[in-house]
Amino acid sequence: MELKILGSGGGEGFPALFCECDHCKAARKAGGKSLRSLSQTLIDGKLLIDLPAATHAHCLAHGFGLGHVEHLLITHTHADHYVPEILDTRGGGFAHNMAAEKLNIYGNKDVKRRFEGTFELFPIGKEIRESIVLHVVRAFEPFTAGEYKITPIKACHAFEEDSLNYIIDDGEKALLYLVDSGYPYEETLDFINNYGKKFDCVVMDATMGDSYYKGHMNHDENKKLKEYLISSGACDKSSKFIITHITHNHTGTHEYVEKIFAGSGIEVSYDGYRIKF
Ligand SMILES: [Zn+2]
Ligand SMILES: [Zn+2]
Ligand SMILES: [Zn+2]
Repeated sequence: MELKILGSGGGEGFPALFCECDHCKAARKAGGKSLRSLSQTLIDGKLLIDLPAATHAHCLAHGFGLGHVEHLLITHTHADHYVPEILDTRGGGFAHNMAAEKLNIYGNKDVKRRFEGTFELFPIGKEIRESIVLHVVRAFEPFTAGEYKITPIKACHAFEEDSLNYIIDDGEKALLYLVDSGYPYEETLDFINNYGKKFDCVVMDATMGDSYYKGHMNHDENKKLKEYLISSGACDKSSKFIITHITHNHTGTHEYVEKIFAGSGIEVSYDGYRIKF
């Protein structure tokens, strides 16, 4: 499986659009890996996780389009993960020769509600609407998307909705995608431990840096979770651990974050970060 982080920043991006804090100023000066876009990840070049407004910019930056993408997983409805408005160009006079006839979107019931509400206010062409299929999925109920077995799991985040994280399994390798989420609930950890297969890669929310909030992890929790998953047997020493969703409010430039994780066995992602496992 190949994983590519298209956007590694937190909710407001890093540097944040309107912010002049020391971390944002340092990131603008440093450039490169310290410039973090909104959260989005691509698996094997075809399975997309989340749909922020930055999706178009990600496609420009990485030289691909989304006409071939058949399956899109949405974690929750926060705007840094889901802006259905941008789907209004998927077809009609706006998109031609798409390899994927349909786009299947999987998410909680609010993902569907937000989609329907958006296009009730601002209708899209019938052809575009009918080529997008919304699937409401629930935590701990697996489903199949193309060649992948996907299992939504309960995220500790966005408490006003059933926020989801995902297990993505291609039959050989398994990925545990924990973005956005605070330190996982007991029931989520139990499910992970009883999944029946070792996780080859874990992507963790690292929003809180040196601070604490229940709905996102901090750097100490990232390290603690890695140790926990290895000790529980869900992962082993060959598993890859990656952090993303990094914000200006609680940590510094890429170089600074790398120092914090030096020697921990956890990799600090950046926009365009790619790993095969
Ligand atoms: Zn987020
Ligand atoms: Zn800032
Ligand atoms: Zn969120």
